[in-house]
Amino acid sequence: MTTPQRSQRIATAVRAYLMLTAACLALLIPAAAQVTAIRAGKLIDPDSGTVLTGQTILIRAGKIEAVGNNVTVPSDAKIIDLSKMTVLPGLIDCHTHLAIGAYDAKDLEFFTKTAAQMALESVPNARAMLESGFTTVRDVGTYRALGDIALRDAINRGDIIGPHMLVAGAYVTITGGAGSATGLAPDITLPWDMHYGEANSPWEVRQVVRKLAHDGVDHIKILSSGAVLAHRSNPKSQEFTPEELQAAVDEASHFGLRVESHAHSAEGIKNAIRAGVASVEHATMIDDEGIALAKQHGTYLDMDIYDDVCFQEQGRLGMLPKDMLEHEAGLAQIQRDNFRKAVAAGVKMSFGTDASVCPFRDGAKQFAYMVKYGMTAMHAIQAATSNAADLLGHSDEFGSIKPGKYADIIAVTGDPLTDIRLLENVQFVMKDGKVYKQ
Ligand SMILES: [Zn+2]
Repeated sequence: MTTPQRSQRIATAVRAYLMLTAACLALLIPAAAQVTAIRAGKLIDPDSGTVLTGQTILIRAGKIEAVGNNVTVPSDAKIIDLSKMTVLPGLIDCHTHLAIGAYDAKDLEFFTKTAAQMALESVPNARAMLESGFTTVRDVGTYRALGDIALRDAINRGDIIGPHMLVAGAYVTITGGAGSATGLAPDITLPWDMHYGEANSPWEVRQVVRKLAHDGVDHIKILSSGAVLAHRSNPKSQEFTPEELQAAVDEASHFGLRVESHAHSAEGIKNAIRAGVASVEHATMIDDEGIALAKQHGTYLDMDIYDDVCFQEQGRLGMLPKDMLEHEAGLAQIQRDNFRKAVAAGVKMSFGTDASVCPFRDGAKQFAYMVKYGMTAMHAIQAATSNAADLLGHSDEFGSIKPGKYADIIAVTGDPLTDIRLLENVQFVMKDGKVYKQ
């Protein structure tokens, strides 16, 4: 057969195949996607900081199509009546560790588990998070690299139930640092996925960021101070040099990725802000200069001011090693006082709990602490909705109930603006237009 004849035959075969595929798809897709209409008694709009009444939310193909008090509802629409409830956009936790494995795992227990065990034991974490009203999480690292990517993708495929996950893949950390698997004898060889994010120069930082970008992460987590929950670590120290932190932010930007930095110490916080991170996590010992810098750079502070309650409880139950309890001593009150200062100074604040320290169902317990330490209830809700979406760079998809965004919607009985603790008991959860709790 000559070459032109051959290509003609191939072209005919491809055309026939495409027509057949199109015909099969036409059989599978219903004439019109199911339309849902939610009748909302009160609707909190974090974008404007207002409460709307008598609103109807129209949802088609997982997205919000229209919102208002004069929305035409198609006759075949499924109606969900939340007219006696307060409706809010799905909550966003900007600091979780869903892929950590079983919540009640003991210290160093992850050395006794395979990566597959850790991943499968994490499945209930994702479900608990969603059912408690958090429809999106920014998941900020795992000791077994890339397990979070597998979890995110399994949720997106619909294999398991969980929130939208934006994942980091691994901790970008110095060797022996806050994101390393520490506390072991030097002659123990770790598997690849327990030191995947280690880097010790600007160029090594860039190499790790390049690997993670290739692996398909959504953002980069770097650690610029020691940690509470790491052996032989000092939260009051600095980790990485300014050059290394700048390399992380610059290299991440080549892939359109934002960077968040774990930092407890004042210098670790300021180095990260100067390097241009999107948010500082914990920000425990932030000083006046750090607060001024955060304002100047528009850096978010993501301060987990509730989780010490769980930490102390685990300490009482003997679940935490002595060195970690010593690291934490006195830091909780310092962090809460600094949270109050940062709020008063008008720094951008997001909602992040470090879920894994507390059970995955308990994220909303932080709201009451945020109000106790200086936020209005509306500001606390904005931190977990519109502000969080802004930090994630996804304001077009999440953070408020507006046309074009994902139909991620929750509801509670009563008015959370007068009693913020009502958010601890979310009674209705919808994600992508699908109801997960009612
Ligand atoms: Zn964390």
